[in-house]
Amino acid sequence: MRFEVDAEPSPLRFCHCTTCKRLSGGAGTANVGVPTAAVRIVDGEELVRTFQPEEGTAKTFCSVCGTNLFGGGWPTSERTSIRVPTLEQGFEPKPGAHVYVRSVAAWETLPDDGLERKV
Ligand SMILES: [Zn+2]
Repeated sequence: MRFEVDAEPSPLRFCHCTTCKRLSGGAGTANVGVPTAAVRIVDGEELVRTFQPEEGTAKTFCSVCGTNLFGGGWPTSERTSIRVPTLEQGFEPKPGAHVYVRSVAAWETLPDDGLERKV
């Protein structure tokens, strides 16, 4: 699928929550936020699936390749978290924060990058 975003994204947020670990198969996800109304799927909308975990907001992925696309409750939420790897190469987000650091795993090391940490 392909999508376009017609908005200035918020600074980068690394999410370390348990759901993002499962989705990513690693330490978590890298996200920027935009108004949901600014997200437009231009191709392959029928491939997109959204599920609602027991905790947190709905997550959206591609049913063919498994790419983790959106969080934050798309398409019904006011704002959407876009997984940064789905944006075009060369996209340079503004530095932001590490969030859900209370869920950092014993096998995970937070980088010493000077970003704000939120519990
Ligand atoms: Zn998360």
